[in-house]
Amino acid sequence: MSRWEIVKTPHILYSESERETIADKMVKTEEEWRRTLTPEEYRLLRQEGTEPAFSGKLWDTKEKGIYVCAGCENELFSSATKFDSGTGWPSFFRPISEHSVETKPDNRLFMRRTAVECSRCGGHLGHVFDDGPNPTGLRYCMNSGALHFKPAGKDGEG
Ligand code: FE
Repeated sequence: MSRWEIVKTPHILYSESERETIADKMVKTEEEWRRTLTPEEYRLLRQEGTEPAFSGKLWDTKEKGIYVCAGCENELFSSATKFDSGTGWPSFFRPISEHSVETKPDNRLFMRRTAVECSRCGGHLGHVFDDGPNPTGLRYCMNSGALHFKPAGKDGEG
């Protein structure tokens, strides 16, 4: 089984309510992205950049809440699935829904990796590896700068 196939997370992991229809795609020109994103967000999301380990603002966040795409606010990950990977990047064992992210092979830098991107705007978020914890065995290794954190409300869920 290739790494590419491994990331096709079994549907059984998702509840009925999470099986939403795919959000409308957000399509912008590169000029529009340059104007609306910070230079760092543009480098990460639109140029498939990587932030240095332990440099981002979310790798050690433990609050309850939702992580959304910095480019389009698409909901991507719940704090309930975040774990301490020791890598210095925010790490999750699964996305918030099976439609929130897409994956593609990334063979840059003489490595075979699987890139993760936002299903709504196509922004590059990070990579997924097969050395994560239960229940998926996956490690979604994300750039802090590609995400915005929305803390849960007082009566909200994380
Ligand atoms: Fe997005």
